[in-house]
Amino acid sequence: MHLWSIESNHQHLDGGAMFGNAARAVWAKWVTPDELNRVLLATRCLLAENIDGKTVLFETGVGAFLEPKLSDRYGVVEKEHMLLRSLQQRGYSHEDIDAVVLSHLHFDHAGGLLAAYREGAEPSLLFPNARYIVGETHWQRACRPHPRDRASFIPFLPELLEKSRRLELVTGDHSPCLGESTRFSFSDGHTPGLMHAEIGGDNGVVFCSDLIPGRPWVHLPVTMGYDRFPERLIDEKKDFLADKLERGVRLFFNHDPDCALADVQRDEKGRFSAVNPQPAVEGIAIE
Ligand SMILES: [Zn+2]
Repeated sequence: MHLWSIESNHQHLDGGAMFGNAARAVWAKWVTPDELNRVLLATRCLLAENIDGKTVLFETGVGAFLEPKLSDRYGVVEKEHMLLRSLQQRGYSHEDIDAVVLSHLHFDHAGGLLAAYREGAEPSLLFPNARYIVGETHWQRACRPHPRDRASFIPFLPELLEKSRRLELVTGDHSPCLGESTRFSFSDGHTPGLMHAEIGGDNGVVFCSDLIPGRPWVHLPVTMGYDRFPERLIDEKKDFLADKLERGVRLFFNHDPDCALADVQRDEKGRFSAVNPQPAVEGIAIE
């Protein structure tokens, strides 16, 4: 099996919201904000070739489904559907994908499932031949969001996924579609039932999703304003990082614009950091 990082659309989001209760003077040393106090974020995806003979896309990024007014409000950088272009550069159409794995259904992770916005056109799903793989616990939240996180979801998406008859809900470590090669674990601090796909077991790669959006968030106390339960997230992140360090599993980041993959390190004081940053994943082989 081979893994490739696949870029979807970038976003400019408020730096304060991305770094929770960290002071601006601190986070601005890690990421330089623009004149509107926004930071640049990737919404990166991961493509796996030949997982049990299947071509699997992990996540879809924000995509280009937002109407122009909302696209501007959420700081989406590119107007075209970058995921489709990036897949094409790897030689794939969205029709070639056998499964799309979604860590959660926040719009900056699942928006790329949808065709690009066209005035007057009904929203429609791409990936007509794929199973859409979503964690069962998170699915319940996406169908019935809390007022606090409702704006993070795409209101019409659950119905479209259900109607496709290709939705597969994951309740345990593995999904029927992907078999033993992909192991799932879950965390609740960012959103209930956030699903982390680990590909290749020990010395493999894990999709951190919004538990750890990029290198600055590897530092345990750093959380996002969007996280539903920040203290729980920190506890979950500590266990997650200790486990990945012990088993040599590399971290895949979807929001870090300059780093797709890194290793975990822990210093003598027990502080975690990301080392050996890779800007892209280019065909690494996983057993
Ligand atoms: Zn999220």
